[in-house]
Amino acid sequence: MVQKGSGGLAPSPLLPMPGLYVHLPFCRRKCGYCDFASLAGRDELIDPYLRALKAEAGRSKAVFAKPDTLYIGGGTPSLLGPERLQTLFSLIETGFGPIKDLREASFEANPESLTPEKAALLKTAGIGRVSLGLQASQDRLLDRLGRLASFEDFLKAFRHLRLSGFDNINIDLMTGLPEQSPEDFMTSLKEIMALEPEHISFYALEVHEGTPFAAQGVREAPEAAAEMFALALPVLEAGGFRHYEISNFARPGRESLHNLNYWDQGDYLGLGSAAASHSGGVRRANTKDPELYIRTAAGPGGPALEYSETLTPARRRAEKIMLGLRKTGGIELPEDIFIEFKERIDGLSARGLLEVSGRRIRIKREALYVSNVVFREFV
Ligand code: SF4
Repeated sequence: MVQKGSGGLAPSPLLPMPGLYVHLPFCRRKCGYCDFASLAGRDELIDPYLRALKAEAGRSKAVFAKPDTLYIGGGTPSLLGPERLQTLFSLIETGFGPIKDLREASFEANPESLTPEKAALLKTAGIGRVSLGLQASQDRLLDRLGRLASFEDFLKAFRHLRLSGFDNINIDLMTGLPEQSPEDFMTSLKEIMALEPEHISFYALEVHEGTPFAAQGVREAPEAAAEMFALALPVLEAGGFRHYEISNFARPGRESLHNLNYWDQGDYLGLGSAAASHSGGVRRANTKDPELYIRTAAGPGGPALEYSETLTPARRRAEKIMLGLRKTGGIELPEDIFIEFKERIDGLSARGLLEVSGRRIRIKREALYVSNVVFREFV
């Protein structure tokens, strides 16, 4: 890309792009609740997919500056064997520079596929943060979810990470599961807190159409999930975790920088099937279909898109508030936005849902679990 300069043609500046997300859609088996862009049992697509990613990374390199943070998610990125992981890291580095130089580089892993060899390889590659999917510490619940790993597998994977030198590990849990009591959830929480991870996330079960859970008639349990959430907060805080986003808890300084950029409405680039990007008020996502992605990524127009939309200024302002309110510290609004939304802010404050201090607004702690009620006001 070139632009006219005073002395002739000069390279145009690369667009800043703080966050880079790379999606690996492959899984060994679909979990019962899974509504993510993932597919199981199609390992023959992995190599063509990596070639497609390389083409997309190469094309993006000419447009975007080096990112600050990297997040490799899925699917199950840890499903890739050591050689393919090397291929993945080298295509990222060819496009965006050394992984070890980034402010943060995260990698999602599932316990059953995280071997000692892979843990060491991640560390050598410059990955600094690993997010391990556990969901619950009771094997009967893991079976019910269709997870492949037992709690013992998880403990082994966690040990491999620590032995490889990882000092920034997130563990994912779930609430509101079928046959999960509040006691089960608190046992899971206490068992993982005993391992002293740096970060814990937990999400309430959502049952989406088209998933095995929907076919089985599994129901969401928002009240049970809310009870588990309320029980967990004081325990996490007493354990030194700061609640910094609706679903996320971190030891000081261990917040996810990559996700904070999303909540700050920063720009990000997504590579791979289903990966979304946001730049300068335009949001787009690649096709969710990995095979279509593979067929189109290296073509002249780049990967097929699932959607592309230009956000209106009004929509961007509303989204800025909704994203900012996800953080427990809330958001300091510029004066014009504060004035524009003042009536709704006052209404939510009068209902006891929002705390207002100057132009900083935040959802009251006790209302965080019903944050959707607040978000609806800004849609
Ligand atoms: S491991 Fe994650 S992405 Fe893969 S099927 Fe299970 S929930 Fe879905």
